[in-house]
Amino acid sequence: MLTRFAPSPTGELHLGHAYSAIAAHDAARGAGGQFYLRIDDFDGSRSRGAYVDAALTDLAWLGLSWDGPPVHQSQRLGDYDAALAGLRARGLVYPCFCTRADIAASLAAPHGPAGTLYPGTCRHLAPRERERRLDEEPHCWRLDMRRATALEGELWWEEEGQGAHPADPAAHGDIVLARKDAPASYHLASTLDDAMMGVTHVVRGADLIASTDVHRLLQALLGLATPVYRHHALVCDAAGKRLAKRDAAASLAALRANGVDGEKLAADLRAGRLPAGYSLQMP
Ligand code: GLU
Repeated sequence: MLTRFAPSPTGELHLGHAYSAIAAHDAARGAGGQFYLRIDDFDGSRSRGAYVDAALTDLAWLGLSWDGPPVHQSQRLGDYDAALAGLRARGLVYPCFCTRADIAASLAAPHGPAGTLYPGTCRHLAPRERERRLDEEPHCWRLDMRRATALEGELWWEEEGQGAHPADPAAHGDIVLARKDAPASYHLASTLDDAMMGVTHVVRGADLIASTDVHRLLQALLGLATPVYRHHALVCDAAGKRLAKRDAAASLAALRANGVDGEKLAADLRAGRLPAGYSLQMP
């Protein structure tokens, strides 16, 4: 068994990250397997080295150990490019020049699991206009979801302990695989890296279950193995809201600075005992 914890170094880790890292760590260690860290820093404009250092300190403070050096997505951009080029050669992706405002203004834009669906404007551009604008305008690359799902048919993944879970990528519309402002997207980078790292079990928060719809399709398109998934409950605050990076009180660095014993906190989280005011909830 090989699991991973994959923080994005765009802020401090909080109790929710601790819960997730412990779950992935314990799953591997309990099976005599390996636990890796991946730093999801392909977005160079938002990632900070200081958050990487802080995350490693937090995890060690919780008493977690990991195998090998962490994998950095910023070192993996060539692989993301190559995968995108392969999909482009198969006519499965297209450049999109729309701004957020364009998409929001489109009355036709329906909604999906992650907000507004892309209405498909740039899917229909004439080849000559597309070529001209490619040279001149900032663009992202989108998956042609209709073609991709027609190619792959019905898909599902194994949700640990629950059996086959149907994947519904079509509900997400033409998702972005390479952003305008970054050389990949979370979906593309995460799917490729989980496969490259040999991750057998993806243990992560249930907020990401909808992403698994998309990851499963990308695995099929790119000929990658499908790991088993375990989507766990989320740490929520007193109002029942999932923790976010801005919830400074729940940051591990703050708890550490306040003299909290990290290994005791980890033991409590394992037992489902959360600090006062926090609870575990399934979305
Ligand atoms: N970097 C992603 C996050 O922090 C990883 C999610 C995942 O586990 O796939 O949300």
